[in-house]
Amino acid sequence: MNTLNDLHSISSTFSNTEKMPVLFLGHGSPMNAIEENQFVIGFRNMAKTLPKPNAILCISAHWFTNGTKVTAMEMPRTIHDFGGFPQELFDVQYTPNGSPELATATQELLSPTAVELDHHWGLDHGAWSVIKHLYPDADIPVIQMSIDYTKSGQYHFELAQKLGALRSKGILIVGSGNIIHNLRLVDFRNINTDNYGFDWAFEARENINNYLLNGNFQPLIDFEKQSNAFQLSIPTPEHYLPLIYTLGLKGKEEELSLFNDKLVGGSLSMTSVKISN
Ligand code: ZN
Repeated sequence: MNTLNDLHSISSTFSNTEKMPVLFLGHGSPMNAIEENQFVIGFRNMAKTLPKPNAILCISAHWFTNGTKVTAMEMPRTIHDFGGFPQELFDVQYTPNGSPELATATQELLSPTAVELDHHWGLDHGAWSVIKHLYPDADIPVIQMSIDYTKSGQYHFELAQKLGALRSKGILIVGSGNIIHNLRLVDFRNINTDNYGFDWAFEARENINNYLLNGNFQPLIDFEKQSNAFQLSIPTPEHYLPLIYTLGLKGKEEELSLFNDKLVGGSLSMTSVKISN
């Protein structure tokens, strides 16, 4: 497991803290960045329950790469990685500092898995559209870690476990995606109908929530082997895998709670997870 030496670079930068909670945030439409609705209220209310972090490590659905990378620049740019939205959304700038120290510490912790220090990415909307509701003053440094698209759920679950030591250094680890995310089947006529979901989406949400609340993570890690409702909910893995990172960080005695647990447009869920002592 992690030795003191592994944490050398981060120990000199970040103070020891109580173990920070871990989050999975359902980010949904990029418009959640600028709209006022029940989900952003949910993010803000949840943020009030958190100790102030030293920095944030975000695993976003929107950085899906061959291999694992971490952003290592001092000043990550705001990436507007979407099309067909109003200018107001493209005008959003969310510009916390980066943390090259946290990037290096993450690289060391995950060794011998190769992690590339990246100087090109920044913060994609999977990160900034939700983190801006937690910390609107952008006063907490943020780095992102990418998801290696060549790897299995089991691999991501085990990789996440190696990040656990960061929690005692005041690092808030945030997975950002959507557990149920089938964009092709979204019913836009019902996009504003509260908790509107197809039968298969309700079925998947109930099964997944039961697995989450009972701490039975193996079927969630093996999501590709599950029912047809799972397959319709997770047609591609990038929005789901950030959840697996969050679950990999749960200690045996820790609590897992859900919030923003609603379906949207038939085939999306905003269900979000908090893990804490
Ligand atoms: Zn997304």
